[in-house]
Amino acid sequence: MNLMKQHHKLIIITAPSGAGKTSITHYLLNCFPELSFSISAATRSPRKGEKDGVDYHFMTLEDFNQKIRENEFVEWEMVYEGKYYGTLKSELQRIWKRHQTPVLDIDVKGAIHVQQQFGKDCLSLFIQPPSLEILQKRLESRGTETADSLQDRISKASYEMSFKQHFNEIIVNDDLDRACSEAARVIGKFLQS
Ligand code: 5GP
Repeated sequence: MNLMKQHHKLIIITAPSGAGKTSITHYLLNCFPELSFSISAATRSPRKGEKDGVDYHFMTLEDFNQKIRENEFVEWEMVYEGKYYGTLKSELQRIWKRHQTPVLDIDVKGAIHVQQQFGKDCLSLFIQPPSLEILQKRLESRGTETADSLQDRISKASYEMSFKQHFNEIIVNDDLDRACSEAARVIGKFLQS
């Protein structure tokens, strides 16, 4: 089935890791009942409190590779060294079947690939952290990273910032409430269009 020809809407929220994209995504999902979170496939291990089939479809690298071979992904990326993440076609179909709009919380490269495939049917929001220093502090206080993975995320973040102009809207997250309201305003308009 050709997903692009169906003209279903979808929303992408992208940002460097730690920019506040998860908080903004949760806010939007609460605001708009017509939105549904697109659960990605991922090969990393679940963090404390994360559930398979809720936060991610956690899978082995073998299973992930099998899905690549069978063309089951809209996009996939090795987001961090050896860690693969991807949007399954079946996940988007599941959401559209329920007459909802998927929200994809994905990395910048993946977001660009999805945009290329869906064009005007998709709205992309780039959440920009106020600065890389603040981003580093946020990641440190989250306490989920080792020194190496923190460094990995910071250097990736600075690279990802250089792509922000590719997206429909840039939302600076210097104040979470303001960023959430701005994102909701833009999405409300898109859903009505
Ligand atoms: P985390 O490991 O912190 O849950 O996520 C790491 C990064 O992977 C985040 O930037 C997240 O947006 C991204 N990500 C999650 N799912 C996907 C996906 O399906 N495709 C791509 N390209 N990136 C994803």
